Amino acid sequence: MNQPALCYFDYNATTRVAPEVLEAMLPCLREHWGNPSSAYGFGHEAARRLDEARARVAALLNADPQEIVFTSGGTESINAALHSALATRPERRHVVTTAVEHSAVLKFCHFLEKQGCAVTVLPVAADGALDLALLENSIRPDTAIVSAMCANNETGVLFPMAEIAALCRSKGVLCHTDAVQAPGKVKLDVKELGVDFVSLSAHKLHGPKGIGLLYVKRHTRYQPYILGGHQERGRRGGTENVAGIVGFGRAAELALGNLAEENTRVRALRDRLEAGVLAGIAGTTRNGAPEPRLPNTANLAFEGVEAEGLLLLLDQAGVCASSGSACTTGALEPSHVLTAMGQSAACARSSIRFSLGVYNTAAEVDYLLQCLPGIVAKLRGGPAGPALP
Ligand code: PLP
Repeated sequence: MNQPALCYFDYNATTRVAPEVLEAMLPCLREHWGNPSSAYGFGHEAARRLDEARARVAALLNADPQEIVFTSGGTESINAALHSALATRPERRHVVTTAVEHSAVLKFCHFLEKQGCAVTVLPVAADGALDLALLENSIRPDTAIVSAMCANNETGVLFPMAEIAALCRSKGVLCHTDAVQAPGKVKLDVKELGVDFVSLSAHKLHGPKGIGLLYVKRHTRYQPYILGGHQERGRRGGTENVAGIVGFGRAAELALGNLAEENTRVRALRDRLEAGVLAGIAGTTRNGAPEPRLPNTANLAFEGVEAEGLLLLLDQAGVCASSGSACTTGALEPSHVLTAMGQSAACARSSIRFSLGVYNTAAEVDYLLQCLPGIVAKLRGGPAGPALP
């Protein structure tokens, strides 16, 4: 068995900075390190690069550059959108979201509840789908915003955001989507989606960590979350992370260009991995609907196996994957996403997410399919199973 150097199947956790992105960033750190707010020419050069990057990320979303607010990442963008919706309409104290959102949404909603707001957390079906009639009925006269994710980070299941946004519009309620997992994998067009806010994060699309954006639809009232200087047209205080923003801009261009490959070659690799596991290892099932789903994500349950042990042995074999389980207060909590889909704690604890990307090869998938049956058999206490053909 030929072991590749590192089999990285965790693209939904983070991605490597693309060489083109690094190339674009380095001049901002080496030569053009001025403050974009400075009045002299040296600062103007940084400001020019920042404007260029803003246009590039706007193009990824089919947005206007003025609708982009750069932030420190997905988490800040999400917090900022929810905060603004409540701050600009203080008479509205109700938020609607779903049980499978990222903790950046759920924890902020929990915080809002402690501040006296009401939060409705919508359940999902066994395949991860959202009931839009339930969503419609949950909207109240005092609802400020609905926050639903474009693509689930654990299962890849897609929510029909255009329909959700249309529903919100018809009720006069703001709509935010956490689209952190979407760019480069599915088309993201804010004009087609019709949402008011979109959160993105550069490190999920081969950009650097610690930089993200919030799309704020033109004419949407906005109350900054981070107060300070006049940066970002007064919508986010703090000297801009110019190198990060420039890297994000280049990554956005690459993501647009990668869309076709993600939906052909990467999708085929993911399907080969998924089909290989389901056919080759007894007691395995897929979590979540097969479609509509991100083309790169497979969430698989291995009956009778603890995901932690599986991940450890995979790590020893040079394979990176992850589980949605979180270690809280010393105990392993099963994934809140899989639990919300009605799975037992045992099933949720036996599930692993494989998320692929443009740097993956067929040889890496073959290697995984060769070593996985033996690892699973070992963890199930039996003899190491035969390698898959
Ligand atoms: N939302 C989703 C769906 C995510 O997958 C992540 C990151 O894992 C985030 C939000 C948070 O983004 P960031 O790491 O940029 O704060």
